Amino acid sequence: MKKKKIMLLILVISLVAVTILIFNKLYPSPIWNRKNIKMRMVMWIISLSFLTYYLKVNQKPQLVPSILSSDRIADKERHSSNVTFDDVAGLEEIKEELQETIDFLNDSGKYKRMGAKIPKGILFYGPPGTGKTLLAKAVAGETNSTFLYASGSEFVEKYVGVGAKRVRTLFERAKKEAPSIIFIDEIDAIGTRRNLDSNNEKDQTLNQLLVEMDGFNTDETVIVIGATNRLDLLDEALLRPGRFDRHIYVGNPNRKAREQILRVHTKNKPLDDTIDISEIAKKTHGLTGAELANIANEAAIIAVRNKKDYINIEHFNAAIERVLAGLEVKNPTVLLKEKKTVSIHEAGHALVSKILKVDMVQKISIVPRGQSLGYVLKFPEEDRYLLTKQELMDKISTLLAGRAAEELVFGEITTGAKDDLSKATKIVKEMVCSYGMSSLGLMAIDEHYTKLDFEAIRIEMQKILDEAYNRSISIIRENLDILHHISNLLMEKESIDSEELDEIFKLYQKPIDCAT
Ligand code: ATP
Repeated sequence: MKKKKIMLLILVISLVAVTILIFNKLYPSPIWNRKNIKMRMVMWIISLSFLTYYLKVNQKPQLVPSILSSDRIADKERHSSNVTFDDVAGLEEIKEELQETIDFLNDSGKYKRMGAKIPKGILFYGPPGTGKTLLAKAVAGETNSTFLYASGSEFVEKYVGVGAKRVRTLFERAKKEAPSIIFIDEIDAIGTRRNLDSNNEKDQTLNQLLVEMDGFNTDETVIVIGATNRLDLLDEALLRPGRFDRHIYVGNPNRKAREQILRVHTKNKPLDDTIDISEIAKKTHGLTGAELANIANEAAIIAVRNKKDYINIEHFNAAIERVLAGLEVKNPTVLLKEKKTVSIHEAGHALVSKILKVDMVQKISIVPRGQSLGYVLKFPEEDRYLLTKQELMDKISTLLAGRAAEELVFGEITTGAKDDLSKATKIVKEMVCSYGMSSLGLMAIDEHYTKLDFEAIRIEMQKILDEAYNRSISIIRENLDILHHISNLLMEKESIDSEELDEIFKLYQKPIDCAT
């Protein structure tokens, strides 16, 4: 490094000197007069060429991931891992599972004396935003280890050997800075199953990763943590003992965990008395830790925007709506006719959802947000892990109720049901292909088979969708007066909350589910 700097200095000085020589022609001095101008020009060009060549040669393409190629960035990452288990809410069983690894990093001698080998690779898998990176950082924080972050996509290169070299550099660095944690996010980018058509560069990178993981000896306190959303895609060689042999599922938080996550993310925020964190946890069913963190942050921003000293429940409700339904469109230019269609569509969802008791309707709105012109906010009363076939059918009927209401009231259908159809189709596909809930019988049908004989599956799916849709039609037909009441109130007020919806239902003697 020092040599390079001296070389650069010499080149710059010589260029400056030759430039002075040329200028001397214009402003002559007795010392330089002996050299002729041609000679001076040649020297100037040679110096300039040397300098340009030198700079070019030293500007090699980066061969290591950004995090490794710059000490400064690496240091930043290392400091940023002062996350501890206190910052990770919920996930108690995972923290317990990781205690052993932490103990090994903190006191590896104990294990070595016993001749015990601690697992070198841990794989976190699960949906995005559930805290996988956070957990890895917390392990580094708890053990005061160097945290080296790399994303799988950083190793994906066009040129054969570059990805493999990056892997080598990463592991070399980890060994040098041990105790250390290598965290490879999106490991599926390099670790997918190899097959005949897979590409050479990716295979080399994966092979290098396997070699590096085998190459650790028991003295090295380096732990490799991988994270993926798709465990099913990973190569078996990567998952076998000695490599990523501990697989830990990090899923969406349950109600208690959501409450704890919200508490962690509101710890340093001034909340007023209207806020009941457990109530907020209840109505954020299905949301990930990242989304909950986002809601807490949005609520704080909304409070600042409203010039308040404390965050109140209205700020939280607005933040939940913002995260769940998207950004509110200011001054929307929706035609009156379209507004009426949207109000009927949303009223259809709310009506069928309430009658079939699919989730609790929290709010119905026809204020456009994100890409949707209206929405129904609803959440289940409790966390559910098993759903019956009937409950799935009810869900599908609720999803198709918007389209059913449009057809019944206007005799015409619109493009507004696009998202509903895709959600309903997804559930039905799982019923047929994964849950054995169709007349195809008790079987799981994989993607490969779906491609071979889609027609049989399509017929089954269509049967289920038609049944659910017809049910929505009959429920709405029997309760048309309630549908119109909800729709008219929506046209008047643009949004209705759960109490107002209850009031409407009380006015009508008995909402009927005519299908039961
Ligand atoms: P991806 O698969 O997309 O990489 P991830 O599972 O690695 O996502 P993280 O990056 O760890 O998710 O989480 C994003 C953010 O969400 C965290 O920085 C944190 O603020 C918040 N978060 C997620 N889970 C938790 C949790 N259990 N406790 C506290 N905060 C959490």
